[in-house]
Amino acid sequence: MSEQVLRARKLDAEDELAALRERFVLDDTVYLDGNSLGALPAHVPDRVADVVRRQWGELRIRSWEESGWWTAPERIGDRIAPLVGAAPGRIVVGDSTSVNVFKALVAAVRMAGEDRDELLVDATTFPTDGYIAESAARLTGRTLRAVTPAEVPGALGDRTAAVLLNHVDYRTGRLHDLPALTAAVHAHGALVVWDLCHSAGALPVGLDEHGVDLAVGCTYKYLNGGPGSPAYLYVRRDLQDRFDSPLPGWNSHAEPFGMDPVHTPATGPARGRVGTPDILSLLALEAALDVWDGVSVAAVRAKSLALTDFFLECVGAYTEPGRVECVTPERHAERGSQIALRCPDAGEVMKRLIARGVVGDFRHPDVLRFGFTPLYVGFRDVERAARVLGEELA
Ligand SMILES: *Cc1c(COP(=O)(O)O)cnc(C)c1O
Repeated sequence: MSEQVLRARKLDAEDELAALRERFVLDDTVYLDGNSLGALPAHVPDRVADVVRRQWGELRIRSWEESGWWTAPERIGDRIAPLVGAAPGRIVVGDSTSVNVFKALVAAVRMAGEDRDELLVDATTFPTDGYIAESAARLTGRTLRAVTPAEVPGALGDRTAAVLLNHVDYRTGRLHDLPALTAAVHAHGALVVWDLCHSAGALPVGLDEHGVDLAVGCTYKYLNGGPGSPAYLYVRRDLQDRFDSPLPGWNSHAEPFGMDPVHTPATGPARGRVGTPDILSLLALEAALDVWDGVSVAAVRAKSLALTDFFLECVGAYTEPGRVECVTPERHAERGSQIALRCPDAGEVMKRLIARGVVGDFRHPDVLRFGFTPLYVGFRDVERAARVLGEELA
């Protein structure tokens, strides 16, 4: 038996989070795509069935009150809050990440003031953020400049209104320095919007601690909310009264049932709401979040780094040198919870891996992406994935 197999057994035996795996529906594939769609927590189907059959089927309209449907966006926001370092009353859940990027960015520009006429966006961003930023700039009459996160400090100035950044790069897995970049943006009097899609549920974020202005993220990756589960929007406490949503729907009205022709914004996180929440997805997410009860984000981060370290070690042992290039930073301070390997035939290699029960994904043009979700991926999974990868690359 190889040294790596023995190490994997030992690491699994020492893993404090190993028992959580039982709470998910898994099979004998190695699932390393939880950074695209998290696995299903085993109790969720029954909870969703109850929402459909009893809350909707029997209680019908009464459920808006009696089943807590109306207040679900803020209640579930408070469940996500500790995972991203936020106090209660900062987060609302609803709409997609793309829509929340739009709300956050336009609101940031409005708060920054008339004399600031430039938006900065991460040049390596997940495409939707870039598309939305371009439209937000056009709508607000600002210019948009794309810069890499490393170039942000040098690009900031008196003209900067807002900066849109990804905490972890979806392609390379690079973790950006949220505290330092937030402080740099603030030193120039601008506002920052962080996209947490690839960090929330994988590593500590510290939104309140670092004074982040606005943040958005999705819930179907590391938070396991299910396909298309609604995203969330964080607004710093002292900015909430100035948050001027570009999508002020009736759900964000101070008195939604007043049916007032004039919009008076609600106080607190509800100001980020738009229309009627998608209750089925929202309550599936609420159920899914139960698996986080009693789980420390610090422990999740420690295991995530151990998983990615071990994967790199196994790839080193099983793959001939130079066959793949790792584009994820070696340094822990710069690494999210995925490993991205580049090779010219990545698309074909990933197809063969999936056929052999090792599920990662391919990102155009030449990246093999492997996401490590510490709640349900173990070290033997990692060893097997690296071994099969080595065989397919040989
Ligand atoms: C996954 C992801 C999104 C997804 O946006 P949707 O509106 O939910 O489709 C946005 N931004 C980043 C950085 C992502 O990784």
